Amino acid sequence: MPDLEERRKALSTGKLAETSWVRNTLSAFNDTLTARDHSRDFVYAHGHYLRSRVMAVALIFLILSPLWLMIDIIMLPQSVQRYTLAGRFVMMFGFAAVYWWARRSEENINRIRFSAGALFSLPALFYALVLYVLPSEANHALVGYGFIPFLLAAVLSVFPFTLLESFMAGLLLLALLAFAQLVNGSWLSPAGLEAQWLLATLLVVSLTANHFQLSLLLRLYRQATHDALTGLLNRGALERRLAEIEREESRTGKSAPYALLMLDIDHFKRVNDTHGHSVGDKVLREFARLIAQQVRTGDFVARFGGEEFVVVLQGASEEDATCVAERIRLAVENAALLNHDGKPVPVTTSIGVACSTGISVEESLGSEDALKIADERLYHAKEGGRNRVCYA
Ligand code: GH3
Ligand code: MG
Ligand code: MG
Repeated sequence: MPDLEERRKALSTGKLAETSWVRNTLSAFNDTLTARDHSRDFVYAHGHYLRSRVMAVALIFLILSPLWLMIDIIMLPQSVQRYTLAGRFVMMFGFAAVYWWARRSEENINRIRFSAGALFSLPALFYALVLYVLPSEANHALVGYGFIPFLLAAVLSVFPFTLLESFMAGLLLLALLAFAQLVNGSWLSPAGLEAQWLLATLLVVSLTANHFQLSLLLRLYRQATHDALTGLLNRGALERRLAEIEREESRTGKSAPYALLMLDIDHFKRVNDTHGHSVGDKVLREFARLIAQQVRTGDFVARFGGEEFVVVLQGASEEDATCVAERIRLAVENAALLNHDGKPVPVTTSIGVACSTGISVEESLGSEDALKIADERLYHAKEGGRNRVCYA
């Protein structure tokens, strides 16, 4: 972090804007390169978006296939038609299967990915097989086949694929075109090179479209799931994550216990009334940062409402959770929060702890009940004099 003078100088010369532009671009590129760092929740949202596109494109391909069949009947010699006819029926059956498979895969991201892969592979394989089976003298009669790699490169841009996924698909399309050119004899000819060049250019355009599409999705997702003031998850995102844990439990039959902390800042209204709303906001941001520092990656923290926060500790027992709650309570009590004049703003928090395993270990509580219990215990902590943790 440059010091204030350096920062001022950089701002006046425009250097700061440049470096932050470079940093933002690199981080956006990193976000769309692979899905490695995407949260589970985003992977689901992304999967749903991908699924709707797979279904739409499969349906369009399915509807267009019979039209193409007619072109084959008009243009191709009789001897060749039995190959293309059989191939086309297999492909149409494949498109219908992809549509059906994607439709049934609402919850399963891997199956959605597989259906997207199948949607691309079907026309590519069909083209490769026709080239392989047909006698080379019949090759010139293939009308509308040569554009399959180009069509698929353009269709890539419709999907919010990661850059790596699209890049791999692009390499396969270049290999498909190379194979077609080896079969029809245009490999390394000026016309062949021109076609390779055109396909590579189209792939770059599609990759750019993928990048912007996925970036936009990520930005919308972040805005919809995160609180603008603190940067923590918002209430909706928290409830969806808890529901997801429940769904996973009922799908696998294995229990995934977690502990919930519900925190509320004590007498926060006084902070606003004494120091003003902007100091109140600063305290909320600082409070959020303090909580986030005390939990592990994999746990999650959400702003539940005004000055109420929820922490979900995955796999934690009530005992572990009470320790974490006590640690947070102490960190808040000892934090040196200051107002705009540098005067201390004393802040404390009350915390209610609940565990999803509930009364008996076998019987798992729903997230709604766990939240209700944590809220009741928070109320007891307030009643008991505030700045304390209340558990079973
Ligand atoms: P208690 O110890 O019983 O929790 O008392 P409290 O004063 O904290 O509780 P109360 O619910 O009466 O007040 C909460 C206050 O939080 C009122 C509201 O104006 C303030 N608040 C809610 N959201 C924000 C926000 O985003 N920024 C600021 N500055 N204040 C907020
Ligand atoms: Mg409060
Ligand atoms: Mg409150």
